[in-house]
Formats: sequence, C-alpha cells, structure tokens
Amino acid sequence: MQQKAKLVCINPNCGKTYSIKSLAIKCDSCNFLLDVKYENKPSSSLKEVFYERRNPQGSIYNESGVWRFRELLNFCEIETEDIEQCSKYLVSLDGAEGRQSKPYHMSKVAEFVGLDNENVVFQPEGYNPSGSFKDNGMSAAVTHGKMMGAKKIICASTGNTSASAGMFAANENMECDVYIPDGQIAPGKLSQAYQFGTQMVKVNGNFDDAFTKSLEAAEEPGSYTVNSVNPFRIEGQKTIPYRALEYLNWEVPDWLVYPGGALGNTSSCGKSLMELYEWGWIKKIPRIAVINASGANTLYQLFNGIFDEEKLRWNEGAPNFELIRRFYDEMSKDENLKPKTKATAIQIGKPSNVAKGLRALEFTNGIVEEVTDKEMLDGMSVVGLNGFDCEMASGASVAGIKKLRDKGVIKKDDKVVGILTGRQKEPLLPIDYHNDPSNKFARPPKI
Ligand SMILES: *Cc1c(COP(=O)(O)O)cnc(C)c1O
Ligand SMILES: [Zn+2]
Repeated sequence: MQQKAKLVCINPNCGKTYSIKSLAIKCDSCNFLLDVKYENKPSSSLKEVFYERRNPQGSIYNESGVWRFRELLNFCEIETEDIEQCSKYLVSLDGAEGRQSKPYHMSKVAEFVGLDNENVVFQPEGYNPSGSFKDNGMSAAVTHGKMMGAKKIICASTGNTSASAGMFAANENMECDVYIPDGQIAPGKLSQAYQFGTQMVKVNGNFDDAFTKSLEAAEEPGSYTVNSVNPFRIEGQKTIPYRALEYLNWEVPDWLVYPGGALGNTSSCGKSLMELYEWGWIKKIPRIAVINASGANTLYQLFNGIFDEEKLRWNEGAPNFELIRRFYDEMSKDENLKPKTKATAIQIGKPSNVAKGLRALEFTNGIVEEVTDKEMLDGMSVVGLNGFDCEMASGASVAGIKKLRDKGVIKKDDKVVGILTGRQKEPLLPIDYHNDPSNKFARPPKI
C-alpha cells in the first residue's frame, strides 16, 4: 500500500513542505518544527489487520508493537505486506519495540488514585527492550536515518534517549555519538549507553549546550540526529496511543495521562489523535493531561497563567513565544526556577516540543498539572505493589491522576489511561523509599 509522505512545517501560517528524504528538523522560513504528513486516509478496516498481526505468523514486523501499525507511519512508502521490503527498510530489535507494552488493570493503583479498577488502565512502556517508551520513536527515527544513508546516530542525552539510540545503532551496525554535559549524569541510564558502545562526547556547559553541539555535529554528512525534535520519533511514538486504543477496542477513553518533559510524547499523542479523528477512526477526542514535576514545571506555569497572567496557548499556530522567552530569561537568573527534581527524565526546563505540545493540548482540550517528588515516589511505589515496574518520572502519571481525581477534574466514572514511561534504572530509589517508614507504601526491612 503506497502512500505519499512529506514533511510539513507545523506553522499553519507557513505550511512550507519538504521532501520526506530531507534531513530538515526545523522550517528554514519560520523556525517551527516539522510534521510528517501522509496524503492518503488509511481505511479503518486496518483495525482488523492490526488485530490479526497479534498472531505474528513468524514476522517480526507483526510482533513489533510499532511496526504492527506500519500503514499508519509508512514514511518509507513501502509495500507494507512485502516482508522483503519491511526487512530492507524497517529498523526493529527483533520485533521487541512496543511488543510488551499494552494497558493493564492495576487494582492497587486504581484504589490509590480513586477510580474503579475497570475504569483505569496503565501502560508500562518500560517493558521495551532498552527500558523506556523512547524505543517506539527511536525505531522509527533510526529507520529514517538508515533510509537517508546515515552512518552515525547523534543525540544529546544523559538518559533514556541515549540508551535507546545506542541500542538501535549497535543493532544496525551504525555508530552512535552521545553528547553529555560534563559532570551531571544519571548513571543508571548512561551506563546502558556505554554498554551499547556509544561514543560519549563531553561538552563543557549544561544540557542545552550539549544539545546545541549535537545539532551542529549532525550537520556532518552521514550523521543523523535523533533527539525528540526529530519528526520521525514522533511518528513511532504514535503507536503508544494506538496500542492503548486497540486494547480498549478503539473505544476512546476520557483521559490519556502522560508525564511531561520535552513534550515529545504529548506531541505524538496529539498528532495520532488528530489523524485518527481526521480519518474517521475515532468519533470522540480524549483529553490529554500532561503532568509536570513541580520542580521542573515550565509548561505548568505558562499554560496555567502562573508565571504571567497570560495563559500560553497554541493560539492557531501563533503561541506567544515572547512569553516563553521571558520565562527562560527568568529561569537563567532565578535559582528557584531552575529545573530540580529527582525524576531526572522530566527534569527539563526548556521543552523542545513546546509548540507541538500546545497544539496537542488545544486539539484535545487538554490540561497541565504538577506533582511533587514525594507524590511521584508514592505513584512509582504503588505500581510496584501490583507487580509492575516503573521509574520515578512515570510515577507522575499515577500521582497526576490521583491529584486530578481529588480535585474533581477527573470524574468518578471517567475512563482513564495512564502511560508509565520507563522502567526503574536507579536501584537506590526503591531501597531508600522502602527504608523510610514514613513513606505511604514503605515496607522497611525486618531486623
Ligand atoms: C523521556 C522521558 C519522559 C519525558 O518524555 P517527553 O516526551 O520528553 O515529554 C518521561 N519519562 C521517561 C521515563 C522518559 O524516558
Ligand atoms: Zn515554516
């Protein structure tokens, strides 16, 4: 099934298009990010095909929780049923990306957040091969990189992005350079990137400096950047809501709840819903709730009018960038505004997908909430009591649902999907949590 794909500037007042075989990340006229856009409208009869592929019949592209939906992200423009074309183009870790992450009922978590067990599910994206949802997007981005003839994958990350990029690059026999700020690292995740043989590049400065350097390096011929500004990562991450919706028999929930960092996940959820709605696959639009850490709450402050009375909105493609710049300016001066949370995956002050994130919130009538580190740790820990593993940032989804339920924003009978973004990679966090008897779910050791 061929489809015409291209890249389009997300600014509705610009809309400049680029070839799908372009390495552009930003629009050269207006500096907005780009979207992958498909010309055709995939028929909703594909729902049957996707369902049948859950019996993979020996194909890793059916096993994959990403490529099982390949008709909906066919930017390679391949014949999707032709296994030779699939194996020539699609990057997959033997079908493992997205394979095990689907929604589960977790009775103790449901009780904690104040919803009936049948009304709430949680999707542990930590059960991806490198341990986070990043593998969904990375398989797609590295696929595009390969299509462009890239030899070297590049990212700036101290966390799950580097682990995921390193894993796929190693598996594809590509090089991978990871730009890190000299000094500040999350050892659990970076150790994975070392394990996959990535080349660390230490940059004097903070994360933003490392990011800038990485984008410069990606200009070299044969190099390819996979930070979440890459539009193909957004394509791969669309399969997170696809899997959730499929397991709900495409009955649309009232809420989809995500932790918010760079807002790539929020953006891709919004894009997937915009497309499904446009194609007539869904009739109702679920609301996205983005949960910030209260120590890194740029979006929370700007969206809810806390930094300034003005509430930052998509505003038909003209968000008030001046307001954002002013916030960043204050942040550089005020120690209290600098991102600070133990949930390192969402310790992000300048969300690089902010415009796409605002568009997603606009389309879904979404909201932004914040939770404290303590609340995230409780959320993370109650997930464990149901026999599932997740990291602290993922605890934001649980804590956010609880807070919104307590406030009455999420109603008693609302149907809710919470995304648990990653697996525990910091062994000391649960040990410290459970050794402190004052914690809500602590089970301290017996002496
Ligand atoms: C990257 C990451 C996030 C943040 O996602 P964004 O798309 O950057 O908003 C949250 N949780 C985990 C575990 C992550 O790895
Ligand atoms: Zn543009």
